Amino acid sequence: MNESAMATRLYFDPIFLEHDTGAHPETAERLRVVREALDRRGLWQPEAAAEAGEPAPSVISRVHAASYVSAIERFAASGGGQLDADTVVSRASYHAAARAVGVARSAVDAVLGGEASNALCLVRPPGHHARPLGGMGFCLFNNIALAARHAIEEVGMERVAIVDWDVHHGNGTQDAFWEDPSVLFVSLHRWPFYPGTGHQDDCGEGAGRGSTHNVPLPGSTRREVYRSAFDRALEEIVAPFRPELILVSAGFDTFAGDPIGGLGLEPEDFGALTRSLRQVAEDTCQGRVVSLLEGGYSLEHLGDCVAAHLEALRAGVSPQG
Ligand SMILES: [Zn+2]
Repeated sequence: MNESAMATRLYFDPIFLEHDTGAHPETAERLRVVREALDRRGLWQPEAAAEAGEPAPSVISRVHAASYVSAIERFAASGGGQLDADTVVSRASYHAAARAVGVARSAVDAVLGGEASNALCLVRPPGHHARPLGGMGFCLFNNIALAARHAIEEVGMERVAIVDWDVHHGNGTQDAFWEDPSVLFVSLHRWPFYPGTGHQDDCGEGAGRGSTHNVPLPGSTRREVYRSAFDRALEEIVAPFRPELILVSAGFDTFAGDPIGGLGLEPEDFGALTRSLRQVAEDTCQGRVVSLLEGGYSLEHLGDCVAAHLEALRAGVSPQG
């Protein structure tokens, strides 16, 4: 394998900065601090933005109701406003959210096509709370659910695993694959907590029964307890599924100092989680991992958390790694 085929791809698009939420924890400033932190470490080498493109509404409708997709497009075009109490739409939001979907799909293509070993998509708005029928919780379109659908319906994968380590339960992702055995959904999250879903007995229905796994953890969880629960979930749930691709809902709001989350983790823990994940990916699917930014609201430390994740994705696979 040549050097470029071994690389970790980093995806970003300036339009993600134009999703304007006003005075809000999910702000464009998040991506600016991440960019600075990666730049300081010599890690800021994103893919050319134009490569991904904006998917058509019909592509976004593979997870979401077509009426919802067109409603968001119209709402944004008219200037936007509050979608719900904590979800904001601005004039550029439809195009930012659609481009986030496009970036996630491109990253899947690059990794499944052998052009990259793994990938990190620095997108916003985040996606894992967006349900088939509507957005919520800062999320408009479910980027990771659309990435998984793309891998299965267009690339032809049979088994995709989604690991969600955001502090909040990925209720939208769970809903998208509730009856779908081809997508394994594993979520570790603080509980009880927003959005209130993610009980450990919730495991899917019909053909999808057993392909949803929820690991609720109390807010007082210590970092070593979190990490062993994470490793156990990989070993007992993800590895036996034999995924052909692992997608990560990478929220960094489990960081101990996160202003709206917090579950005891320190920045270096995201490196450890990533190494565990990569080990399972090596054992099951030639290391194929595509990670998507979800939450993480500490403007002081989000950059350190993302850098630890990216450094561990790159270690041993990138030319500089
Ligand atoms: Zn979150």
